[in-house]
This record gives sequence, structure tokens and C-alpha cells, in this order.
Amino acid sequence: DAHRREKRHVLHFEVEKVFDVTSVLLGLQAPVLLALSACVGYAMLMILAVRRRGWHSANSRGLILYLLLSGLWTVGLSLTLWIGLREEVPLIGVHAAADILLAMSPLLGVMTLMFLERPGGRWLALLGGLWLILILAIEFNLFDIQPAVLKLNIASTIGETLRILRTINWAGFSAGIFLLVLLDYLQIRRPLHRNRILFWLIALMLIISGETLTLLDKTRFLFDVMQVGLALRFAGAIVLTVAAVSYHLPILRTFVRQATAVIIFTLVFGALIFCGIVVVTSVAAHLDTITTILIATGTALLLAILQQPVRALLQRWTDRFLTSGRYDPTRALRDYGDAISNILDLETLVTVAISIVAEALGVRRGALMLITDRDETGVDAQIMSGMGTFPIERADFSAKSPILEALRRGDMPLTQYEIDILPQFRIAQPRERTWLQALDMEVYVPIRSQGLLIGVFSLGRKESGEPYTAQDLDVLTTVGNQTATVLQNARLVSDLKGANRSITKLNDDLTTSNRRLEKLDMAKTDFIEIASHELRTPLTQIRGYSDILADVVKQPPANPAHMAQISQSITRAGQRLEDIITAMLDVSRIDSQALNIHTTPISMAVVMKIALDNYTDAIRDRKMKIAATGVDDLPPVQGDLQRLCQAFANLIGNAIKFTPDGGSVAISGRSFAENSVGHQMFVEILITDTGVGIDVDDQVLIFEKFYRVGAVELHSTGSTKFKGAGPGLGLPISKGVIQAHGGKLWVESEGHDEERMPGSTFHVLLPAMKIPVSDNGISAGKD
Ligand code: ADP
Repeated sequence: DAHRREKRHVLHFEVEKVFDVTSVLLGLQAPVLLALSACVGYAMLMILAVRRRGWHSANSRGLILYLLLSGLWTVGLSLTLWIGLREEVPLIGVHAAADILLAMSPLLGVMTLMFLERPGGRWLALLGGLWLILILAIEFNLFDIQPAVLKLNIASTIGETLRILRTINWAGFSAGIFLLVLLDYLQIRRPLHRNRILFWLIALMLIISGETLTLLDKTRFLFDVMQVGLALRFAGAIVLTVAAVSYHLPILRTFVRQATAVIIFTLVFGALIFCGIVVVTSVAAHLDTITTILIATGTALLLAILQQPVRALLQRWTDRFLTSGRYDPTRALRDYGDAISNILDLETLVTVAISIVAEALGVRRGALMLITDRDETGVDAQIMSGMGTFPIERADFSAKSPILEALRRGDMPLTQYEIDILPQFRIAQPRERTWLQALDMEVYVPIRSQGLLIGVFSLGRKESGEPYTAQDLDVLTTVGNQTATVLQNARLVSDLKGANRSITKLNDDLTTSNRRLEKLDMAKTDFIEIASHELRTPLTQIRGYSDILADVVKQPPANPAHMAQISQSITRAGQRLEDIITAMLDVSRIDSQALNIHTTPISMAVVMKIALDNYTDAIRDRKMKIAATGVDDLPPVQGDLQRLCQAFANLIGNAIKFTPDGGSVAISGRSFAENSVGHQMFVEILITDTGVGIDVDDQVLIFEKFYRVGAVELHSTGSTKFKGAGPGLGLPISKGVIQAHGGKLWVESEGHDEERMPGSTFHVLLPAMKIPVSDNGISAGKD
């Protein structure tokens, strides 16, 4: 206690000293008055904040609270300067101010996070709150912390402990916030965003340095550091409030540049005037008054005349050194108008227009968005790059998008800064905002024709890193107006070209399908020929054999061997007739989707074996090689055994028929999982021959019924003979059967060539059964 009293005494003494000096000057307790007027200042800042931003947003409430606390803190500190108060009042003031500072630093942190639109504000507030509670607990000795703290020997007194804790808290928060803003400032490339953050950074610098001064031990300084600190702190609060409440902040870079130009001009011209005065005064000693006055007048006139060119010269120099160079807007606009006026091609227009504007402004990125109203709900925007690459080619805006609305109505270009900062754009759909962010543009210039928005000229940031000036935006507005008619024409031409292209395409499609229909039509006409040929051949055979039989019966004795041969031939012809009629019935069932499929789990190996069995004799007779690989390992298929055998027998039969003697047929199988259809397994079987091959034009048509490639005369020349075609029903049946199993059938071949024998490969794709997983987790089927 003795120590404390002594300290207070010292404080009092210092205060008196300061008071002495200033009160002599002002006759008032000046420090107190200054501090209190700072309070009034904070109150005015609060009023400004409420008027500009209202009560409702979290940002403005945070700011108002911060200003209120700042005012109270100033009052607390000014109590320590107040002479004539009761002894303990300054001490209360010191503690109150210290506690308020404790609450202010985290609050500043939260405001900064909100300003930078970063997350984590809640956590920071929580952390700050916990610190505050801890320190208040020590201060009011709740939970008896004080003896414990003292025992730990961290500090000699409670006051000391509190001071250390408070300083740590304040320094930690202040440094953290400052670093965060500094990093953001260094990272951000957009000039206007940078400028806004720079304001905050300056505010933080003023606030933190001001607070540091108030925390220093005043006895060590000649001047009152606390007063200076309070003033700096107040200046910081002004900058902070301005940055938080206004959207269009002055551009500090431009401001500095203009100030530099003024200073340089003043210095140079001051030096000139000085020289003039020196000259006049030095001649005055030697000459009479009239001459002196004449010389003085001459010098003054000379300086007055010089003033204008000197200013112009200096302006040019400072421009060259301090800015990225200027362009002549009238000339740029005239050049632009001349260059684009006759362009009708949309892409050329975009490239030329963007490159001219980009060059004048020193920009490296530009695009034109073509705007098309899709319907009542949406608007399409197509990006046409003029310079640089863009991640997206088109996007859609909602019809009520505030961004589009601003482009439709506003008379100036819209900047990305405005889209990011202004509250009216915050209601825009998030996808529109992210989309624009991704484009990485700085300014959007609307192009309107007859009151409709038809395009948006978008430009990236300037290479110099400077923001667009008001003059740039004016020029861009005119550019937008100049582009409107040309763009409208180019769009019309492009639409016409597009329409022309689609008509040509339609025409081509029509020709193709016409050709196909013609072929099919021919196939149908042929069918009558083929069918009659196909049906008549066995019928004729039957009739012939029965005539022979009748003759044989008339002239006994009958030779049993001869009789047996005749009956066999009749049976074979009857069988052929039945086959053809069955095939025709099958096709008609497939056509009317009446093919009955009775499914059971089936092994593909069995199907292949049965299908191949039909051709053992033919393969031997025609000296062909046939091999099946990978078929045994396939997973089972849910299917109709008889139908699948029929389908594969047709395919294998064709492969044999259309391959010359001594050729080979290879059957191979594989299975795979298709992730796009929920891990469905498929089996694929390939039947490859070394035969005549199939023309690309015919590769679809052969699956149509009655379609055949060769001449009619070749038909019914045998079911396994080389090129011994049937009625053209085999493939349609196979396809119908496989489709009825949920599968696909198609063919690949280089073309039809009876010299080279390119061969064909028929692909069959069938869905496999789900393999049941047994209890031990090992797949029951083979893979
Ligand atoms: P067909 O009864 O004439 O065999 P398909 O419907 O089975 O009738 O086949 C139609 C046509 O497809 C055949 O006439 C033939 O021209 C062609 N074709 C089918 N398979 C093959 C193959 N493996 N190689 C060459 N051409 C084939």
C-alpha cells in the first residue's frame, strides 16, 4: 500500500507538472479538455456511423460499440489527468481504461475479420471474452486467485500481474490483427480492394501506435505521450470509421501522386521566384529606381509567362515517373471507332475491340460477354475471349439479377469492387458472384442497343496495378455506346451463319436418312423376291423328290437304299422350309415385342458350346479354325438358354459363311463393371472372323430385317457355304434376342473387300448377374 501511495504521488506530481506548463499557456486544464473533446469526437463518429449504416448490420453495431468503448476509455484516461479530483479517482480511471482496452482489442479483431469477410469472428469474440473474465476475476479477486498468483512469483504485486496480463492480451491481439490485414493487403491484386484494405491498415497503425503511447511510462518523456497517443488513436478511429462506412474511398495512391506533383511544382516554382528576387535585389543596388522597377516588372512578367509551360512540363514528367502513362481519350475513341466500324465477324470484332482498348489502358485481359435472354427466368452469358484465357465459356444469370439490372440501367460501367462491396449486390445469387470472381475482371461496360443489354465488355486490371480512373470509366462508357450497333450487326450476321449451318446440317441429315430409307425400301422389295426364292427352293426340292418317289413306287421292285436317300432329302428340304418360316415368325415377334424370354442363370461357356456344336461338320469340311478364349471365366448371365444359343449360333454361322475356306473365327469373352450404372457387371463377347468384312454404310443396315448385302441369287445357297446367304433374318433375330436381354449387339469392320479379307468383329454386350458374396467375404463367382 505504501508503494502504491508513493506511485500515485509520483503520478500526481507529473500531472501537476504538465498542468503547470499548459495551464500557463491556456489558463485551463488543457489535457483534460483535449481528452474530453476527443470524447465528443467519438460521439460524432458514432452519429456518422449510425447515419450512414444504420443499426441493423453486425458490422455497424460492432463499429458503434467500438467507438463507444473508445470514448469511455478516453474518459477513463482523462480522469488520471484531472487535477483536483479525489485521490482514488485517477486510479479507478486507470483500471477502468485498462479493462476497456481489454475488451476493445478482440472487438477490433472481430470487426477486422468482418471487414475482410473472413470467418472466425465468433471464436475470436469467445477468446477475448474469456481473457476479459480471467483478468476481471484477478482484479476483483474472485476465486482467490491473487494469493496463488503471488505465490507463483510471476510478479511482485497484483497490480504488476494485472499489468503484465493486460499487456500480453493487448499486444497479442493487436499484433495478430495487424499481421492478418497486412497479409491480406500483400495478397490481394485488385487495386480498389487493396485501397480499401490499405485504409484499414492505416487505421490499425494509428490505433495501435496511439494505444502504445498511452501504455508507456509517461515519466520518462519530456512531452505528454498520453495526449499524443490519444490524438493518434482518435485519428485512427476516424480512418477506421470512414473505411467501414463508405464504399467509395478516395484512392490513396492517386492522392499521394497528386500531392507529390503539387509539392514538386511548388518547390521548382519557388526556386524560380527566389532567383528572380535575388536578381532584382542585386541589380537594385547599382541602378536607379525606375530601371529597377522596370527590371522587376520584366522579371515578374517573365515568371508569369513561364508559369504555364513549367507547370505543363512538370506535369508531363511527374506523369511519366509516377503513372503508367496517359493516353489521349479523344484520339483513342476516334481510332477505336474507325477500327471497328466495318467489322461484321463477331470473333474479329471482339479481338480487335478488346486489343485496342486494352492497349490504351494498359490491360492484359479482356472479354466480351454476349447476353441473350433465355426465358423469363434466366439470361445466358457467353464469354468470348479477346485477350487472356477464361475458366468458363458460358454462364446463366437469373433474370432478376441485381448485377444485370445495374448493367441494364446504370449509365457508368460497373466495377468488380462495387459488386463485391455494395450491399445491393449482396443479394445476387452466390453462383453469379463466384462466377464473376472466377473471371477475374475489374470493370464491366454495358453495351446496350435499343434499350436492351446485348453485351458486356469486361476488362481485367491494369498492368500498372492502378485502379481505373473516372476518366477511364467515361471513355469506356463511350466505347460501350460506340460498340452497340457494330455488335448488334455482328451478332445478326453470326446468327445468320449459325442458321445457315444448321440448315446445311439438316439437309445432310435428310439426305442420309433418305438414302437409308431408299436402301430399306429396296430391301423390302427384295424380300418378296428373297422370300419367294427361299421358300420356293425347298418346296421345289420336295416336289421333285415326291415325283421321283411316285415314279419309284410305280416301277417295283423298290431299292430301299434309294428310297431312304429320297426320304432323307425330302426331310432336309422340309426342315429348311420350317427353319425359314420359324425365322420369319421370330422376326415378326421381335417386331411386335412379343418375344417370350424365360430366364434362368446361364453360363456363357454352355451357350457357346451349344452354339458351336451346330457347326462342327461345316468347320471340318471347310478346313476352318475356330477358337474360344476367356469364355469359361465369365460370370453367369440371367437369360433364355435357347434364345441366346440361337443368337450366338446365327453370329457364328455368319462368321463361318462369310469367311473363305481355311480362314479362322475367334471367340473371346471378358467381363467388366460399369460404374455409371451402379457397379453393374457386364460380359462382352467378341466374334471375330477373317472374312470378307462389311462396308461401313452397311454396318447398321444389316441388322434391319430383310436386308442383305449380296445379290439375291446368292441366297439360300447353303447355311454354311462361303457367302451362302440366307433370307437376311439372322442378324435381326440375334439383335432382337440380345436386346430383349438388356444387351447390345454391334459390328466393327474396316469394310467389304474380297481380296484383302479385312474380317469383321461382332460385339455382344450382356448384363451379368450380381455375384452373391458368401459369408467369408470371398466372391462366390469367378471374376
Ligand atoms: P443372312 O441370312 O443373309 O445371313 P443375316 O441377317 O445373318 O442374313 O446377315 C445379313 C447380311 O450381313 C449378310 O447377308 C451379310 O452380307 C452380312 N454379314 C453378316 N455377318 C457377316 C460377317 N461375319 N462377315 C461379313 N458379312 C456379314
